[in-house]
Amino acid sequence: MDTMETKLLPASPQAIEEAAKLLRAGETVGIPTETVYGLAADATNSEAVTKIFEAKGRPQDNPLIVHISRMEELDRVVREIPQAALRLAEAFWPGPLTIIMKKSDAIPNTTSAGLDTVAVRMPSHPVAREIIRASGLPLAAPSANLSGLPSPTTAQHTFRDLNGRVPLIIDGGACAVGVESTVITVAGEKPTLLRPGYITKEQLEGALGCEVALSSAILNKLADGEVAASPGMKYKHYSPKADVIILKGSFDQYRAYLETHGGEGVFAMCYEGEEKKLPVPCIPCGRADDPASQAHALFSALREADDRNAKVVYAHCPAQNGLSMAVYNRLIRAAAFQVVEL
Ligand code: AMP
Ligand code: MG
Repeated sequence: MDTMETKLLPASPQAIEEAAKLLRAGETVGIPTETVYGLAADATNSEAVTKIFEAKGRPQDNPLIVHISRMEELDRVVREIPQAALRLAEAFWPGPLTIIMKKSDAIPNTTSAGLDTVAVRMPSHPVAREIIRASGLPLAAPSANLSGLPSPTTAQHTFRDLNGRVPLIIDGGACAVGVESTVITVAGEKPTLLRPGYITKEQLEGALGCEVALSSAILNKLADGEVAASPGMKYKHYSPKADVIILKGSFDQYRAYLETHGGEGVFAMCYEGEEKKLPVPCIPCGRADDPASQAHALFSALREADDRNAKVVYAHCPAQNGLSMAVYNRLIRAAAFQVVEL
């Protein structure tokens, strides 16, 4: 694709106005949200949305999340609002939850990747909300990484991936959550979790007062020929250049394994305080007893592995419940499902 000059501006009122102007003109803009940085464009404009796919190198069959700033804007993008969606919106919006509903005609097939549903989220980040409001548009915004790489959690990560490919990136600081939104569909028979995130399955069940099904692609590799309920789940994802390998066992087993597997280019992800106890160079990734801190640090840690020219990166195996489910889901994809049982 043609390269262009990419501006990186702190989130001032003028910068937000400039972003809104570009978005109204059918251009793309990198924006901060509380989950990860997004690459935004007018969700109702097929040509604008095509620019997102081109800039990211994203496969055309992977649909985008549409961002709104007020409940009144929901009517424009969906055909109907199920009771379950209202309950979830009441409990978790604005915030890191994406709800899938039947799409309206205002949403072109380019945005929904040909599906008859649309994923909608109301972010809580003040800059994201201000940009949506100022543009007057629902904004399609997938994560602002080059397709396949870890999602960007700072404006600098975004700039590194998209420099020359987008006209503007707005810097709103580091993302608080650090992993992408939880995705739930209420378009089918039964509410189903398609992607875990900061809002947990347990929280969703609490708000809905019923069980939420778990898409099998969350914790397991899709079988050959199996169709993903959420197309994004079928791709290799979140991967640094290094080979990521998950080790499942106690801390002592982790250390013992690393004693015999160290060498040039070998690194270990570790929890705070473990650096001095491990026999290979470490990349810190949150605190052992605090999955929110792990989610916050994960993508940055994966990018650090590349910065340090890692060839192999070992990582602790996270738990699979609560917020740890989101960390496990991202890490297992970064590791292309390589897990060693210790
Ligand atoms: P990203 O924007 O990079 O956070 O990716 C959006 C995620 O939401 C991907 O995993 C998509 O496959 C998923 N998604 C978006 N729209 C839909 C939809 N209509 N049905 C199912 N999954 C969707
Ligand atoms: Mg993404």
